[in-house]
Amino acid sequence: MKIVMLGAPGAGKGTQAIKISEKYNIPHISTGDIFRSNIKQGTELGTEAKKYMDQGLLVPDELVVALVADRITKEDCKDGFVLDGFPRTIPQAEALDKELEKIEEKIDFAIEVDVKDENIIKRMAGRRACVDCGATYHIEYAPTKVEGICDQCGGKLILRDDDKPETVQKRLQVYHEQTRPLIEYYNGHNILKTVDGAIGIEDVFNNIVEILGA
Ligand code: ADP
Ligand code: ADP
Ligand code: ZN
Repeated sequence: MKIVMLGAPGAGKGTQAIKISEKYNIPHISTGDIFRSNIKQGTELGTEAKKYMDQGLLVPDELVVALVADRITKEDCKDGFVLDGFPRTIPQAEALDKELEKIEEKIDFAIEVDVKDENIIKRMAGRRACVDCGATYHIEYAPTKVEGICDQCGGKLILRDDDKPETVQKRLQVYHEQTRPLIEYYNGHNILKTVDGAIGIEDVFNNIVEILGA
């Protein structure tokens, strides 16, 4: 099962992608996580990506596409994957389709997690990320057992630099201009499924499972 997650920054793509990955036993591929891990390790890719991420802008297509093309052709992706944060532009979506065509595969579902902009601002202000493993929490909606400490690894939680309100505004604008057109793109391919993302995490997931099949 090959799945693409769509939705504004903070809509809950990552939260749901992890749950899908666990239930259906397919890898969760987050381009944001890959960039953040490169930044942490101080790679050239990380240094380049950070310039854009800090401003709330998209990393150029050519940097992202090569990375994803390489990742989805790995052995563990042969029964499927859930892509989170990619594609984010029409050229990225086209490149993905081309890459899959080469191996006679295609995306099965594009799941849009729909949340209004007003709710996004609040979501992002409360999002916390683990500095060590990248796990995501929310101070109100998905709290850790011990405040400020990651449940998974004991790492410290931080507010991501790009989750500060000024940058979130910019990211939302970029979303509407560059990523939102993907809704039409996947609708045109008859694989778009929209779920309401403004309800509880488990309820959103139940609706996704209904779409994907148990
Ligand atoms: P969110 O979880 O809020 O949607 P991500 O973690 O997916 O954010 O992405 C963080 C940042 O990484 C983006 O704002 C962008 O700068 C960069 N990025 C991630 N994925 C892509 C992509 N597919 N294309 C371009 N830039 C990307
Ligand atoms: P995205 O990957 O789309 O940027 P995340 O999965 O990181 O979004 O979720 C953004 C923030 O909102 C996180 O702090 C997360 O814990 C929280 N969150 C995710 N889904 C929900 C939900 N259905 N209701 C309330 N909060 C949520
Ligand atoms: Zn952690």
